[in-house]
Amino acid sequence: MKLLEEKILAEGRAINEDILKVDSFVNHQVEPLLMKEIGEHFAGHFKDRHITKVVTIESSGIAPALMTALALGVPMIILKKEPSKVLNDDLYQTVVTSFTKGTSYELTMSRNFINENDHVLIIDDFLANGEAATGAIRLIRFAHATVAGIGILIEKSFQPGRQKLEEQGFEVYSLARIAGLGKDTIEFIPEE
Ligand code: 5GP
Repeated sequence: MKLLEEKILAEGRAINEDILKVDSFVNHQVEPLLMKEIGEHFAGHFKDRHITKVVTIESSGIAPALMTALALGVPMIILKKEPSKVLNDDLYQTVVTSFTKGTSYELTMSRNFINENDHVLIIDDFLANGEAATGAIRLIRFAHATVAGIGILIEKSFQPGRQKLEEQGFEVYSLARIAGLGKDTIEFIPEE
């Protein structure tokens, strides 16, 4: 998506060879018009998949996921990051290790909002090692729902997330694919 790539080039900052900061339009300040475009783009791409729910991981996935859900006309569900196992039968939980923080959390979803009839689209801000998306997939499977696809704003293609998810048979659709990060360079894989 050209608009997102241009924004990344203008405002993104590689803090090292692994991590890109996009605090001015995704992770801290959020640009509503860009999120609206992103939501409509994802909705257009996944429109024939009979999506019934959009699922995201708090907190940076919420803005694009909400716009996608709005464009598709379906609810959005936020998977929460709890510090440790909550003893509550109404919840599904699974451990995920955070790429940026190196810590673990219990990804948590209520049993009330997804069931075996749902076709779920997962939306997240970044794809690195695929841990967050794989955790989301586990929770959706606990509910016996179907994962209809995975939409990512910024994929770091030099890390193994996409391959891991594709090997499990999932479609990964990323709006910007980064081939490499350097001190003053951000290189994209050209759009197909
Ligand atoms: P994964 O689970 O795929 O290893 O990492 C994805 C999660 O880690 C995303 O939800 C995102 O919050 C965070 N993340 C991974 N890489 C980056 C990055 O380069 N920049 C930022 N801002 N977040 C990242």
